[in-house]
Order: sequence, then structure tokens, then C-alpha cells
Amino acid sequence: MNRPLIGLIPLYDDEKESLWMLPGYMDGIVSAGGTPLMLPLTEDEDMLGQMTELCDGFLLTGGHDVSPALYGETPIEACGACCPARDAMEKKLLALALERDMPVLGICRGIQFLNAALGGTLYQDLPQQRPSRIEHHQKPPYDIPVHKVTIVEKTPLAELLQVPVLAVNSYHHQAVKELSPQLTAMAYSEDGLVEAVYMKEKPFVWGVQWHPEFSWKTEESSRKILEQFVKAAKK
Ligand code: MN
Repeated sequence: MNRPLIGLIPLYDDEKESLWMLPGYMDGIVSAGGTPLMLPLTEDEDMLGQMTELCDGFLLTGGHDVSPALYGETPIEACGACCPARDAMEKKLLALALERDMPVLGICRGIQFLNAALGGTLYQDLPQQRPSRIEHHQKPPYDIPVHKVTIVEKTPLAELLQVPVLAVNSYHHQAVKELSPQLTAMAYSEDGLVEAVYMKEKPFVWGVQWHPEFSWKTEESSRKILEQFVKAAKK
């Protein structure tokens, strides 16, 4: 058995004061050959260190808006609820993971968090700050593609998928504004938003703005992304 252990950042339900997980993240990692493990929310350095020893890669899941304080802004009214416990844990865990060159995949909030944590900024609310005719906040079912992204040539995503354009699902009201100098764009939406990124100098640190956890059953490209992540975690 050679299933890498993938640590998943839990989602947080404010009303129920409960940690939770979408099955798509878990099942998608299982299907890609990994073993998913939902982590606790903690800032304890010893526990975070232990997680980096135990896990072979980390999945930064979707969820709350990233706190604008992380990129030096105050929240506008249209900014959604934030989850300080996640921001704090992910910041520390990401630093440890990067130190160790561990594979990290950020999905939705995950790509936004990567960008904000690495010195970039976000649109706090797309409809207000960057209105567009492109649907970025679709209604269910979430496994249906609603807009296209152009994949940047010669990026790892282009190498993996071997297609110039991809139709993706889209369920986000925030997005990358100024790209972190440590990240390189791998895909742009039709209205010019950064929808996929990677860290050039790391073996596998990727972020996607769309949702492979909803589409891996129906979209081969989503399966390939999850498989590439799990494969990177095997080394
Ligand atoms: Mn989108």
C-alpha cells in the first residue's frame, strides 16, 4: 500500500460551532490514490509540526472568506464572514509545509488564501469590485461547467491537461486581485481573473479557483489535478 496521507483543512460551521467536510474532498482524494485525513483547527506549533511529519501533503479547502487583514485591507460591507481560526492555522501550516517542500493544493478559498498569505491581494467581492457578465457564482448542481479558462502555455497545468481551454465550474465571490510575486498564473477566466496558480520553485504548490471536489466524477481534468497532487505527495 502506498497511499500518501493528505491532511485536509476542515470547514467551519459558525451556527453549529462545528468542523465539517464535504465528501467530495475526501472521496476525490481517495479516488486519486490518497488517504484523506481531516485535521483539527489549531495554532499549536508542536501539533502543526506533528501534522507535517505525519502527512505527505495538505489540501486547503474552500470555505469562509480570507480575512482582508491578511492582505492589509479593512473589510468592505460585501466581504463575507471570515474564520480567524482557519486563517491563523493555515498561515502557520503553509509556512511549515513550504519549508519542507511539501505538496499543497488550494481549492477556491485555498487559491485565495495562498495568494493572500504569499503577499498578494484579493477582490473582497467580485460583483461590487469587478462586475462581469461571466457567471462566477453558479447555482447547484456544482459539477456543471459555467465558464471557460484559458490555460497558460508551458505551465505545469498545460503540461498535465494538454488543452488550451477548459470549461470549469465556478462558485466564488472573491478572487485574486494582485498576484503574489511568489505565484505564477496557470489559467485565466474569460473576463481575465486568475483562476489557477503555482509556485515555480516548489515541487507542487498549486491553487485552482474552480471546484474539482464537485467535478472529479464527471470531469477528467478535475481527476487529473487531484491525481497529480496525490502523485506529488508520494515522492
Ligand atoms: Mn470562476
